[in-house]
Amino acid sequence: MTPQAILFSNIALAALDLGWALFLTLLNYRNAARHAGEVPEELGASVSAEEAVKSSAYSMARMRLSFAANPIGTLIVIAAAATGLFGLLDARVGGLVAAPYWRGALFLGLLLLAQAFLASPFSLYSTFVLERRYGFNTTKFGTWAFDAVKSALISVVLGLPLLYLLYAFIDGMGPLWWLWAAVIFSAINLVLSMIYPLVIAPLFNKFTPLPEGTLRSRIEELARRLEFRVSGIFVMDGSKRSKHSNAYFTGLGAFKRIVLFDTLVSSMSEDELLAVLAHEIGHEKRKHVLKMTAVSIAFSFLSFWALSVLMAWPELYAAFGFASPSKHAMLLILGLVSGPATFFLAPAFAAWSRRHEYQADAFAAAAAGGEALCSALARLNRENAANLWPQKLYSAWYYSHPALRERLAAIRGARLDGASGKQ
Ligand SMILES: [Zn+2]
Repeated sequence: MTPQAILFSNIALAALDLGWALFLTLLNYRNAARHAGEVPEELGASVSAEEAVKSSAYSMARMRLSFAANPIGTLIVIAAAATGLFGLLDARVGGLVAAPYWRGALFLGLLLLAQAFLASPFSLYSTFVLERRYGFNTTKFGTWAFDAVKSALISVVLGLPLLYLLYAFIDGMGPLWWLWAAVIFSAINLVLSMIYPLVIAPLFNKFTPLPEGTLRSRIEELARRLEFRVSGIFVMDGSKRSKHSNAYFTGLGAFKRIVLFDTLVSSMSEDELLAVLAHEIGHEKRKHVLKMTAVSIAFSFLSFWALSVLMAWPELYAAFGFASPSKHAMLLILGLVSGPATFFLAPAFAAWSRRHEYQADAFAAAAAGGEALCSALARLNRENAANLWPQKLYSAWYYSHPALRERLAAIRGARLDGASGKQ
């Protein structure tokens, strides 16, 4: 393939990718508009008319933002590739720094900085206009700016040594470097997710142990009953940034913690909170976390292998405007082509994840009661003003969690089956 043909097919794929995303969002938008303010029949008891109006307006406002942000992002990348901007930047950086590792670090660092800079108007608009309009935002500008600085510093502190390690593998380990790199990088990834709750998460939020009381003792009792070991139960000051609420497990092995957003603790009943935690415990018990980790390790092997194959393709560098082959150029190119190349994986992963959600719901309904779980899910949906009317194709393609109506139907259906089985 000539460099022109490679560039053209990449642009065509990126345009198709964008076109499909816009088409699905348009379907979803029309569906939301058609049912604006309408309460789905099955949710009659748990959603008020007023909440349905807010959810439609909020969902549609978020979709309008993505109609603007997605095409702009894709157009910038396509324009930079087509005009040879990446190659020009590379040549400039090469004039400043000669050592390959530092040249690569500076080149990639500048691109990340440019990306953050270009994305910041959308992030500012989303946080301070859209989220504020619907009463969710509690982030102060200082927090937003400080978050950006901290994230950038973490990227530098973690990114520079990892990039150095990658260069060392490519240069020093022979043709099978990608295999060794995949092994070591997967191990580093595991260690990072283990220490994340102890080292990185506290840089952004305050974690306070859940005080003694009935909630704490009931959570401990639930964990004991389900034979689930955790190193602590913490409340996170999520209200510092937004009124959206959530609960999750973090860390691996002995560092595993339960984290409850303060917004969740203040709005949910104890029964509902226990049902949410039982759902999270269900993910562990059904080995979902283990399976996801295994798949992500398999993907890192695939990515390093792809990097090693693509590096030996000289036309590819020329296609994206680079005068000469280099590791940093290939890292950028891999990043650019991986989106369109993994296009069809998104719906497969979403479907897989939704299966896990149904299984965790069934586990939680059995462990903590189906009604408590249903009312917790309805409350979460309500408080996040989540779309009550997702379009079928859109949700099949993107939704990692089934829509509320489908989840409630599955939980209630399973319980009805169980009840009729007993008769
Ligand atoms: Zn889940």
